[in-house]
Amino acid sequence: MAPTSPTIFSRIIAREIPADIVFENDRIVAFRDIAPQAPVHLLVVPRTEAYANVVELAAADSGLLAEIVEVANALAAEHCGGQFRLIFNTGEDAGQTVFHVHAHVLGGKLAEGSLG
Ligand code: 5GP
Repeated sequence: MAPTSPTIFSRIIAREIPADIVFENDRIVAFRDIAPQAPVHLLVVPRTEAYANVVELAAADSGLLAEIVEVANALAAEHCGGQFRLIFNTGEDAGQTVFHVHAHVLGGKLAEGSLG
């Protein structure tokens, strides 16, 4: 279980906090990042908050990780011509602030000072 429950992303998924949701199915929700670092900046998040980061997710449910990648690719095709960065910040020192695994999908030129 993630350290803080419910996580902010669980609260978005539960519609307790508003967000610009661009995709959802029974296992995954995607929405726009509140502080975009590129012209397209989406977060692809599993509904479950059982996994704090991508390493935990990969070890426990590699199928769900593959679904996240598929959704990221489909969203990139729709929002930014199919070319994108896929980032999983893993650990506080690597910039992770929300310990509910999520993929950043970044399309277009990155903002000044952001990764890359
Ligand atoms: P991390 O730093 O954990 O890799 O990524 C967390 C991301 O969640 C950050 O890019 C941050 O801007 C985004 N974020 C944090 N709180 C909210 C929120 O309430 N709504 C949305 N849409 N994004 C959020």
